[in-house]
Amino acid sequence: MQATESSTGVRHDVKGVAELLKSANSGALLVVDAITGLGTTHFDVDAWGVDIMIGGSQKAVMIPPGLSYLSVSQRAWEAMETSLNPRYYFDLRKERKNAKNGESAYTPAVALIAALGAALDYIAAQGGGDLAAGRKALVDNAETCAAMTRAAVDALGLKLFAPDAPAAVATAVLPPAGVDSGVIVKDLKSRFAAVITNGQGEMKGQIFRIAHIGFFDYMDTIAIVGALEQVAASALKLPGFEFGKALAAAQKAYVEQTTKAASETLEAVGAR
Ligand SMILES: *Cc1c(COP(=O)(O)O)cnc(C)c1O
Repeated sequence: MQATESSTGVRHDVKGVAELLKSANSGALLVVDAITGLGTTHFDVDAWGVDIMIGGSQKAVMIPPGLSYLSVSQRAWEAMETSLNPRYYFDLRKERKNAKNGESAYTPAVALIAALGAALDYIAAQGGGDLAAGRKALVDNAETCAAMTRAAVDALGLKLFAPDAPAAVATAVLPPAGVDSGVIVKDLKSRFAAVITNGQGEMKGQIFRIAHIGFFDYMDTIAIVGALEQVAASALKLPGFEFGKALAAAQKAYVEQTTKAASETLEAVGAR
């Protein structure tokens, strides 16, 4: 399954699916595409019983594409011993053997691994040098930017594409009826040099997507909400539109989210 889906802004219930699989006792392995989930969503991989979780360098870790990494459960290691699926390069057992000596089975993308080290140092610095605390800060930041954006969109009178389960990686928004979402994307870019994206494939023109991943924070979010108000004022005929409503909603969401995240951090420190 996917943890979060960047083309639709949907968040999937990884914990719920893991529980279902456990209770079904089928022996099926849970493999999670967390390419955009990692760094934007809180996961407890071991406690939930996720067998394989896959991340990619190009998303919340903020480095160039080309590197992927994954976690492997004991059950998944055991399944590899009996699996008859052909494999050569992607035989993780070879990697595991070599990793014991600090080596990889084949020539790795050394430059990307060095970049990953720098990115992890940056993330750790967000948590005062502690990588786990930094990861929490990275996820909390994405969740905060996403909550601010959802509140702003709602205040404008626009609808989310995935209102029941919105992801923190990106917010997908429906344009007003009869408006091509490309107009909003183009206007933001040409007037404010602000880059958001259109829908993909058959969703082109149907949604616009605002990302919250990686090196993106409160300042960027406030700026994009302000610019979106300008676009709404000039290009969208939204009933009841008033300057400042979306910004005020984003400001309130910021206070709520950061208060919540801070109390979770205090609880976590207390538990330790
Ligand atoms: C980005 C992404 C991928 C990888 O897609 P690329 O086109 O290789 O970047 C896979 N899964 C999800 C959920 C993603 O967001």
